[in-house]
Amino acid sequence: MTCLIQFCERIAQEIQSYVDGQLASPNGAGLDRESIEAHVRACTFCGAEAHRLASARDMVAGAVSPGPSQGPPPTIWNAIEASLRADGLIRDGEA
Ligand SMILES: [Zn+2]
Repeated sequence: MTCLIQFCERIAQEIQSYVDGQLASPNGAGLDRESIEAHVRACTFCGAEAHRLASARDMVAGAVSPGPSQGPPPTIWNAIEASLRADGLIRDGEA
């Protein structure tokens, strides 16, 4: 029977590739995608790690190639401008 801790360590070695969708073929040395997926769903620790890596990946992907719909909404500037005006950093006629 596989020790759970050892299995988590194996998952940890593969999880970045798993999150990136670049997992090696099942006949390689690594775990196959289904095994990792099943474990990530069942294991709180590995599930959290997968979520963390996926979030980081999405952030990087957004920074590298922002899609047309992924930019900040125009209303963001209104809030920033209001905040800057409140701080006296913007005065009418200067913006
Ligand atoms: Zn685990």
